Amino acid sequence: MQAVGVIGAGQMGAGIAQVSAGAGFRVLLADTDLARAEKGKAGIAKQLDRQVAKEKMTRADADALLGRIEPVGDVSGMGDCDLVIEAATEREAIKRAIFESVGKVLRGDAVLASNTSSIPITRLAQASPDPARFVGVHFFNPVPVMGLIELIRGLATSDETVATVEAYAQALGKRVVRANDAPGFIVNRVLMPMLNEACFALGEGVATIPDIDAACQLGLNHPMGPLTLADFIGLDTCLEITRVLFEGTGDPKFRPAPLLVKYVEAGWYGRKTGRGFYDYSGDEPVPTR
Ligand code: NAD
Repeated sequence: MQAVGVIGAGQMGAGIAQVSAGAGFRVLLADTDLARAEKGKAGIAKQLDRQVAKEKMTRADADALLGRIEPVGDVSGMGDCDLVIEAATEREAIKRAIFESVGKVLRGDAVLASNTSSIPITRLAQASPDPARFVGVHFFNPVPVMGLIELIRGLATSDETVATVEAYAQALGKRVVRANDAPGFIVNRVLMPMLNEACFALGEGVATIPDIDAACQLGLNHPMGPLTLADFIGLDTCLEITRVLFEGTGDPKFRPAPLLVKYVEAGWYGRKTGRGFYDYSGDEPVPTR
């Protein structure tokens, strides 16, 4: 595999472009227009500058990596890509439109992958040029740091497609886990009910915010407590994924905690809005309840 196309140059797409170029692939990085794609590349350059300043990377390697990333204004040049990864905004209509346009140029043996966190792969495959060559590749944020890729097969995904993505992931040095096309795949299926349960516990007055976090951090040996983590991820995102689990399975055990819904309705999304379960306006986060 020589060339990788990445569609969406936001948080995830830029990270995917960075690790792909880092593994030696030529990368075409697209967004809605050239300026946004270039902004994505500029963000990568900043990341690499930090690595160089910390002496974790040489200037020459950083420049070579950046030289392999070409920002593009649309997907029309992706005809010579062996693998195209869609990492655009999590809206099904946007992704479907992207698959239609890239489908017009994609080579007959190229693989199309989606980094979706929550949309069923089998359903998305229906909008792709060939469901046998369509697959889910779920990276984790921040992509250069996190060592995992969930590989999700749709009903029609072929063995060759899975092998192509596994070889790519291996080149990136990431561990691949295979998941079935079920709501939340593995990580969110296990994580979100825990975060949601922490919201239930808080809402029912089981304990305070700092005590729920300290209990899980120290009692479960987690790097941070669930309410701190939910604030990091974004409470809106946590609610959205919990709803996908609830609606996708029809199982009431996944029903969103009323307090989580309330916080999202209040616009308290966590770190990104300055307030969630903690207030981030000062030097140190302060519990809000
Ligand atoms: P983001 O908002 O940072 O980036 C999305 C990018 O897609 C934006 O730059 C936007 O301009 C671009 N875009 C929108 N419409 C487009 C189009 N028609 N063509 C090309 N580009 C278009 O979002 P993100 O966090 O990078 O998420 C991207 C995808 O990755 C989503 O599917 C999300 O579910 C998934 N994901 C996110 C995370 C996470 O932690 N943020 C983790 C795993 C997977």
